[in-house]
Amino acid sequence: MNEPIIDGNCGIMCGYHCCRSHEDEASLGMYLLPLEYEAIQKDRGVDFEVHSSYDYEIHGAKKLFYIFCNNNSGCLRNYRPVQCRTYPLEPHFEDGQLKMIIEKNQLHTCPLIENKDIWRKEFIKGIYAGWELLLTLEPVSRYIEALSEKRKDYLSYVKPVD
Ligand code: SF4
Ligand code: SF4
Repeated sequence: MNEPIIDGNCGIMCGYHCCRSHEDEASLGMYLLPLEYEAIQKDRGVDFEVHSSYDYEIHGAKKLFYIFCNNNSGCLRNYRPVQCRTYPLEPHFEDGQLKMIIEKNQLHTCPLIENKDIWRKEFIKGIYAGWELLLTLEPVSRYIEALSEKRKDYLSYVKPVD
């Protein structure tokens, strides 16, 4: 899950739109996968909140870490969360089969969504392979299955790859 989506830096196309911290704006956090904080982010000193399913609309997990990307130190690319690596693809289970989808109800629109012909094949292959591996972890697959179930209620989606 370390392959860039296109040749070059796609952030230049959109002013790093999907990154969660922008100067002069309130920081937005992002949810980590179950186990991701303990496996990767724990020793990095990132700011985080712990959100429990009692207080937040969380499905498929009792609690999730919600971290804030620190704009001052820039992107520590090798440690960036899975959410940053997989975007704009999301894993989705349909009839027990794993598919990659693009959610349509995004807060912002990635210019690459309408330009899938310039996506690198290595990116798509890497994202699939990464998710297949991650989904062998039971807490991760339970979480993604719950999100897939929830998604059916409110979302139409496109399938970018067969
Ligand atoms: S919104 Fe799309 S083009 Fe912009 S940085 Fe994110 S992935 Fe790249
Ligand atoms: S970790 Fe990197 S890619 Fe992810 S939001 Fe922060 S700056 Fe953007």
